[in-house]
Amino acid sequence: MISVKEAKSIIRRKIFSLDAEAVQLNNAIDRILLEDIVANFPSPRFNNSAMDGFAVRSSDTIGASKNNTITLKNIGISSAGSPSQQKLNQGECIQCMTGAKIPAGSDAVVMVEHTSGFSDNSTVKIMIETQPDMHIRKKGEEIQKGDILISKGTRITPSEIGICATFGYGQLKVSKKPKIAIFGTGNELVEPGKDIKEGEIYNSNLYVLSDLVAKAGGSVVMKDVLKDNKEHLNLFLSEAMRSCDLVISSGGVSMGRFDYVRDVFLDLGVEEHFWKVAQKPGRPLFFGTGDKTLIFGLPGNPVSSYIGFMVWVWPVLNEMMGSIRIKSFKAELTEPFPSEKIKYRYLFGKAWVEDGKVLCKPSKKIGSHMLTSSLNVNCVLGSEPSDRQLNPGDSIDVNLLPWETMK
Ligand code: AMP
Ligand code: MG
Repeated sequence: MISVKEAKSIIRRKIFSLDAEAVQLNNAIDRILLEDIVANFPSPRFNNSAMDGFAVRSSDTIGASKNNTITLKNIGISSAGSPSQQKLNQGECIQCMTGAKIPAGSDAVVMVEHTSGFSDNSTVKIMIETQPDMHIRKKGEEIQKGDILISKGTRITPSEIGICATFGYGQLKVSKKPKIAIFGTGNELVEPGKDIKEGEIYNSNLYVLSDLVAKAGGSVVMKDVLKDNKEHLNLFLSEAMRSCDLVISSGGVSMGRFDYVRDVFLDLGVEEHFWKVAQKPGRPLFFGTGDKTLIFGLPGNPVSSYIGFMVWVWPVLNEMMGSIRIKSFKAELTEPFPSEKIKYRYLFGKAWVEDGKVLCKPSKKIGSHMLTSSLNVNCVLGSEPSDRQLNPGDSIDVNLLPWETMK
């Protein structure tokens, strides 16, 4: 049995990076960017109007008010996409719509509401005095040419998509999605929706793991529930190791008479790096490598398998895709936490902010077979081995579930 720290450092040495691929902007959501996105032009690209109104010379409007209107000669229209090529001279103005280029010679826009309106094409009455730069969105006021907009390693959300579109990127260089095989094993497993007999249980792990893989940005390309049978396991695994970057199993990897998963991995030439880790839940945790595949054997108990994925597999997927690492943080316990003497202890929990402090508490149900402990939580709490249980007021590591927020 090795420590969590040792196991993490072994895994770190075996992780490989996935290749990059180009995807259309439409297909880039949730992918990991493998290039910095740089502004190839300033934003705004040109001085343009923030309002529908009239581009004027501000000096022509001095003293203008409702009771003392100033009449200007309208010499044209500048609209979004159709800039006016005319230059304003003293006493002149141009109708200028939101987003339209500010014509040469103009230094301010008067909102149409403060004029006699667009109805007369030859003249307009200005009813307000304006200042230089009024209602003008200045070239480069938001972003300068050459600014880094989004850093390599960022997960693409609607904000990133919007920025890439704004700056004209039609394609993005992203990490390929990791190809993943997941399988569960157990003669007792029945699919939800089917009838269940004495001694059987419903398979829940593959549903959880499938969703976790998708959330982490991977593609499940092979998935099955297998009997505790070496031949079946062998068939599935040999194909998985040929075609996948990662194989994740749940169950069949501990000391039971019918736990064949490890044997089959070894028969297939998988190099075993460890098989037992000083952690609870999930002491039997297999990690091995094939020619081009990382292999995680998670234990079958639903909480061990779920937490095992979050602690061991999720960070590996992130790193393979070049994603910026998610950090854990500390919070103060409001309830006792059952630390273990020689094992790292993980439990689902809840973290929240109260009076400026980050507080947390573990889920009440602590058995590794109790999947309801994953309801109404937002994090996995983790404590180093310790001779005493942690008490309210003690600090503990919080790993926020990446799709959750503090509540
Ligand atoms: P194992 O690791 O195969 O010894 O399984 C440990 C426990 O987890 C047993 O109670 C299994 O019935 C249960 N288990 C294994 N696989 C699954 C699964 N896919 N869904 C739900 N429970 C499972
Ligand atoms: Mg089993």
